Amino acid sequence: MTQPSTSAPLVAATDLDRVATWLRGRVTVLTGAGVSTDSGIPDFRGPQGVWTKDPDAQRLFTLQAYRDDPAVRRVAWRNRATHPAWTASPGPAHHALVDLERRGHLVGLVTQNIDGLHQAAGSDPDRVVEVHGTLFEVECLSCAARSPMRTALDRVAAGDPDPACLTCGGILKSATVSFGQALDPQVHAAARAAAQACETFVAIGTSLTVRPVSGLCGLALRAGARLVVVNAEPTPYDDRADAVLRGGTGEIVPALVEAAVGGGRGLPQRSV
Ligand code: NAD
Repeated sequence: MTQPSTSAPLVAATDLDRVATWLRGRVTVLTGAGVSTDSGIPDFRGPQGVWTKDPDAQRLFTLQAYRDDPAVRRVAWRNRATHPAWTASPGPAHHALVDLERRGHLVGLVTQNIDGLHQAAGSDPDRVVEVHGTLFEVECLSCAARSPMRTALDRVAAGDPDPACLTCGGILKSATVSFGQALDPQVHAAARAAAQACETFVAIGTSLTVRPVSGLCGLALRAGARLVVVNAEPTPYDDRADAVLRGGTGEIVPALVEAAVGGGRGLPQRSV
């Protein structure tokens, strides 16, 4: 497990009930790496994050370094082959969001994650907006042809440390958004539309430090939505949020959804 210590949630019962009431309206959720740490996939910036432990690892996620340096690409291919997403199972937060969707309250599910765990949990794939792409496909940096990651990794396993595009010979990269790389305009538009279509915008398990996605919070607020932040650590949007629920996503999200649309299992709370 790589999540921060979340054993003592500081969520007051009144906060939980207040937010649960809002979840009975139109909700858009933005998720980040903190919904998948319970599934064994480390985040980047949390206390046990990949970049917290090794700041130099950020270079692997920079488009320029990937284009320019074959050594960076070789490391990236090895990391893709062993990425925990290949074997991870959805966690409690993923499952709870499926419940919320099936009760008809989720108008949008925007995720920064590339691990496919929302879809694996049962979220409608047509509703999931993967703003930073997916690990499970590769894209050519020259001709933009897409193909399955598994096929490329089979070529790596067969001895090609940096497989090239079979269509044009260009550099292949996971179909994810690196630093220095623009978001797909259509995907970004879908995320913006989801942020503007809700009454309550809930940011879950994200440091809200990666632009332009973090800007969806401000967009939702300007469109008249409430903002709720669920995270183990402070975020730059806490001051503007209508509620901040500090603690583990795997505890808080199921408790919230249960209180909103289920029988009220709740989570251990301190009295107020
Ligand atoms: P981040 O690493 O910047 O922030 C994660 C936040 O979640 C931190 O504030 C951390 O304290 C919190 N957190 C971690 N585990 C938690 C838990 N169990 N309960 C509550 N809070 C928890 O991640 P980000 O904001 O998503 O942005 C980083 C980028 O990293 C994204 O672009 C994303 O594509 C990528 N990423 C994705 C994955 C994945 O697909 N699972 C994993 C790592 C990074």
